[in-house]
Amino acid sequence: MSDFRQLVPEHVRHLPGYTPGKSRRQAQQESSVECIKMASNENPFGPSPFAVEAMQAVLSESNFYPDNDVSELRQKLADHHSVTPDNIVPTAGSTALLGIIARTLLAPGLNAITSERSFIVYPIATQAAGGKLIQVPMKQHGYDLDAIAAAVDRDTRIIYLSNPNNPTGTALSAPDIDRFLEKLPDHVVTILDEAYYDFSQYFAKLRRFDYSHAIDYVKQDRKLVVLRTFSKAHGLAGVRVGYGVGPAEFMTYLARMRTTFSVSSVAQAAALAALDDPAHTDKTLRNNADESQRLIDGFAELGYSVPETWANFLYCDLREDAVAFAKAMQTEGVIIRPLAAWGAPTAIRISIGTPEQNRLFLEAFKRLTARAAVR
Ligand SMILES: *Cc1c(COP(=O)(O)O)cnc(C)c1O
Repeated sequence: MSDFRQLVPEHVRHLPGYTPGKSRRQAQQESSVECIKMASNENPFGPSPFAVEAMQAVLSESNFYPDNDVSELRQKLADHHSVTPDNIVPTAGSTALLGIIARTLLAPGLNAITSERSFIVYPIATQAAGGKLIQVPMKQHGYDLDAIAAAVDRDTRIIYLSNPNNPTGTALSAPDIDRFLEKLPDHVVTILDEAYYDFSQYFAKLRRFDYSHAIDYVKQDRKLVVLRTFSKAHGLAGVRVGYGVGPAEFMTYLARMRTTFSVSSVAQAAALAALDDPAHTDKTLRNNADESQRLIDGFAELGYSVPETWANFLYCDLREDAVAFAKAMQTEGVIIRPLAAWGAPTAIRISIGTPEQNRLFLEAFKRLTARAAVR
């Protein structure tokens, strides 16, 4: 029998796999009921019809390679953020860029730092690059920035900040991040992961909260990369397109580390068109804010308090085995995410859906928790 242990480095052999939220098809096969998916923070309204049309229009040219420089999208994003195209690197989803950044900066002996219970891709990207990830304990479901700054050592190269944090939904304020960045030594690059930017900014306006100065940091030429994606508010998770905004010199290194032609022509067309449909995003953001409140109220009625969210999902500690609970929810036709892999065996994450989906979720949740109370 062939043996690859001698060939494959230890950090690759021990790499944890990524377990995604279950697909509707798989859940429906397992549970034999119609399922709604509230497990992966996808846009419940789908992509913009403009994006669908733009994708259809380029399909017949799929024999051609895409624009490797993603020029049109970079220019449009540069205009949108008032930076130059040199500051922008699009990739096949922003998780691809996380991997590229880790491979660019890390090697065995070097480390990255983040919070415990944060985005599940940070450990994978770090370890795949041969680096070590230091996960600092949380403070009230959020990042403890002082503890993160204190954990920086000579070998630290990356700090990942998920703002808001997936899966707890908590946000850091811009003034807190301003102060944090001042403390960092020059050999550390901060990754400001703003995958839920549009949702957070919408909440920030309602709540009069100073959420993000991220693009300003780039204009100040700081050692920092901002990550944004078309997967969440724009509803394009399936076509894979996201981007980083950062200092021009560093971004050229990241661009060279990309897999050639990795942003497909379909993805480029979709992203360009999605930017031209603010009405679709507005509808998504308004629904998310209204419905988050409805879900929070629904949880409260049933005796569950959930932290205020700045994203399109809620974090709920059930105080019981969440894997079993998620399985039971699936038999009720609702796919949610149990958070055992995040070290929270009694917690779930629920993506905020359409009014109808949230109604179905709350009804199923009520049935299950009532049954548990009887047991
Ligand atoms: C969803 C998400 C991303 C983006 O993923 P894509 O690869 O762009 O689909 C990045 N960071 C966090 C924290 C996320 O939750």
